[in-house]
Amino acid sequence: MRRSFKFLLRPTARQAAALTACLEDHRALYNAALEHRRTAYAKVKVSVRYGEQSADLKHIRADDAGGQGRWSFSSQQATLRRLDKAFRAFFDRLKAGRTPGFPRFKGKRWFDTVEWPKDGDGCRWDSQPEHPTATFVRLQGVGHVRVHQHRAVRGTVKTISVKREGRRWFVVLSCDDVPAEPLPTTGAAAGIDLGVASLVTTSDGEHLDNPRHLAASADRLAAAQRDLARKKRGSRRRRKAAARVAALHGKVRRQRLDGAHKAALRLVRDYDVIAHEDLRIANMTRSASGTIEAPGRNVAQKSGLNRSILDAGWGVFLTILSHKAESAGRELVAVNPAHTSRTCARCGHVAKENRVSQAEFHCQRCAHVAHADVNAAINILRAGLALRDVAQAA
Ligand SMILES: [Zn+2]
Repeated sequence: MRRSFKFLLRPTARQAAALTACLEDHRALYNAALEHRRTAYAKVKVSVRYGEQSADLKHIRADDAGGQGRWSFSSQQATLRRLDKAFRAFFDRLKAGRTPGFPRFKGKRWFDTVEWPKDGDGCRWDSQPEHPTATFVRLQGVGHVRVHQHRAVRGTVKTISVKREGRRWFVVLSCDDVPAEPLPTTGAAAGIDLGVASLVTTSDGEHLDNPRHLAASADRLAAAQRDLARKKRGSRRRRKAAARVAALHGKVRRQRLDGAHKAALRLVRDYDVIAHEDLRIANMTRSASGTIEAPGRNVAQKSGLNRSILDAGWGVFLTILSHKAESAGRELVAVNPAHTSRTCARCGHVAKENRVSQAEFHCQRCAHVAHADVNAAINILRAGLALRDVAQAA
């Protein structure tokens, strides 16, 4: 498995200045290489290739030993490759008949990462292993920078990146061959229903991550978006409104991630097998019918929650859940969600009248009463276990 680990750096004042210079020089390199490509393209419609720019790097470094020459050749190549990628995307979009914007110069606030593509090449993770308590990462031109390593790194370190976020610096390690950490088996299985009032409801009747705070942020986001739409283009007020929308987007994203991580962790700890709705099928059904199938989903509209926020939330959650399940050796089963919300989990009677309200299920045949999401989760578990039996028999 490939995984990344992110740690706060604790540079000395001198190292912080060097990190800033390193980032600035990589940005200057990026912009100079971009200028080169722009000119060539504008004058003679020629596209400069990565190989040529990488070859030029040698001269640039030799001519500027105290500047560009200080940094790792490989990290500079990585920056040139980043530009190359932007150009490829540009030309791909051109070919597809669209009118993409030409790759842009990076302003100070738009360039925050330097990557060293290979541990040991201009950089070294854990560069002072003999130190009794602290961990260091060595970066060419910066020195041995202290790392606040709050957790163990596993697997083989492949790439090392340094990222500036506000006034803080982070190191991000991308590791290969990270071993799985199987959890002890519990002998338990669960079905989960993904919803609005709770992100997850289990077949055991538990509600995980009640995203009320997320709903509140989402409401504020919707209001901010409406506000932004009313502002005049190019005005100072519009810039302020846009900044607010961006900040709220970030907040919603962080809250969603946090809730999803916690809920997923609980599930993989408690259950060996977890059955969930297949979202691809759920979305197809939804768009095909033109309406939202399950009555439970209607709260989204009632509460003014942005649909796309919810959809993205479920997708993000299932992605996180699948990573954690893989690492813990747990099994996920995706089932077709059709009728899971209107089928009685006790007698199997299928009728949309069974679903009395968003939260209440009341079977019209056997009078079974349950929380609607719990009833759905039990149906999902049953469908998941049946699928699993079929797969094992085959
Ligand atoms: Zn029934």
